Amino acid sequence: MEYYSTNGQAPLATLEKAVVKGLAEDKGLYMPEHIHPLPAAFFADMSGMSFHDVAYNVASAFFGEDIDLDVLHDIVCDTLSFPCPLVRVEENIYCLELFHGPTLAFKDVGARFMARLLSYFTQNAQNNQINVLVATSGDTGSAVANGFLGVEGIHVYVLYPKGKVSAIQECQFTTLGQNITAIEVDGTFDDCQRLVKSAFMDDELNRHMRLTSANSINVARFLPQSFYYFWAVAQLRKMRNGETEEESPIVCSVPSGNFGNICSALFGKRMGLPISRFIAANNRNDVFYEYLQSGEYRPRPSIQTLANAMDVGDPSNFARILDLYGHSHKSICEDISGATYTDEQIAETIRQCLKETGYQLDPHGACGYRALKEGLRPGEVGFFLETAHPAKFKDTVEGIMGQPVEIPARLAAFMQGQKQSTPMTREFSDFKAYLLSR
Ligand SMILES: *Cc1c(COP(=O)(O)O)cnc(C)c1O
Repeated sequence: MEYYSTNGQAPLATLEKAVVKGLAEDKGLYMPEHIHPLPAAFFADMSGMSFHDVAYNVASAFFGEDIDLDVLHDIVCDTLSFPCPLVRVEENIYCLELFHGPTLAFKDVGARFMARLLSYFTQNAQNNQINVLVATSGDTGSAVANGFLGVEGIHVYVLYPKGKVSAIQECQFTTLGQNITAIEVDGTFDDCQRLVKSAFMDDELNRHMRLTSANSINVARFLPQSFYYFWAVAQLRKMRNGETEEESPIVCSVPSGNFGNICSALFGKRMGLPISRFIAANNRNDVFYEYLQSGEYRPRPSIQTLANAMDVGDPSNFARILDLYGHSHKSICEDISGATYTDEQIAETIRQCLKETGYQLDPHGACGYRALKEGLRPGEVGFFLETAHPAKFKDTVEGIMGQPVEIPARLAAFMQGQKQSTPMTREFSDFKAYLLSR
């Protein structure tokens, strides 16, 4: 299958090219040319299948023409080395817990899949080492670093702003060693991003080493996220004793920032996933919410909120949603509604949910939970996504709840490791000299 650019000015790309390049030549996002609906038999059998089998069926529809099926099966199983359980929070409201991976956030799924796919393509082409450059303000760096940890043929450089990521976040990419190098930049996140972009554009550097990016617009990070939406429906059917979607339509609420996660669910719906409608839950960075209300998209600089992984003022995957719906505001509104919450509302929701149900939300999941609770209509059943474990935001969440959050063992293990990082100025000439010396 080939991939086209949302900007329509770049040639079609193979999967390999789309994965290795990330962004198309015209700066558009790659889209698969076809979205194959899954057969009725798959949906009929889904709730009796394992997570790996459900995911493999979905993966085959996207990648089956381009990757040897046995290899694809291995990649899927290897990626999903942790569960994504659906748990009941209250009557008709369920939570899809996506924080059981190595870095306790949903980004583990896409990052692990992409790492394995890149490695497959490098081995196939007998190419030399690929170097992944990633700038992070916290969460992406840890998911990408851990996703690529120990993957042969790939070296990862994580650039992060000195003193501007939390201690928990920092230890998740500075203690790994092996093929991961953490670079501590004396500057801001924007400086890190600028260094990475300049490196991609530097001819001398590109002749010296193969460079690629692992940000969320990469098809190999974004499409695999659809796996767990199918798995959620499979689990829901089982937990509801075979109740059908005709009897109780399913609503799914997604805490959204760059809109990659919800976009992969919309692809799932095109493949036949029986979810009747979606809610995109925003914090105050709510340009998508405004677009739904007004039909006008007005990106603006992001503001800092409690749900910081959703502090995005110009979500890159909006282009994919527009493309998927033929730029029709009306069609988009038929499938997706929006919600927007202030920090005060997020805090209030965390307290209220804990008090009423005993369930501990993180600030991102809190937006998803509240949007579902407020938006669910009589007769519907819904699930929201818990995109990260509350312990990742320990200080914030403990401050709000007034009670301790337990740190999972795998998170505590990171905190015991030895920090290793390379100090770097914010000057590109220094960064370039460093890479040329590698
Ligand atoms: C990245 C992230 C989000 C936002 O996901 P998008 O795909 O960018 O919409 C939400 N919650 C958490 C915890 C995240 O790390």
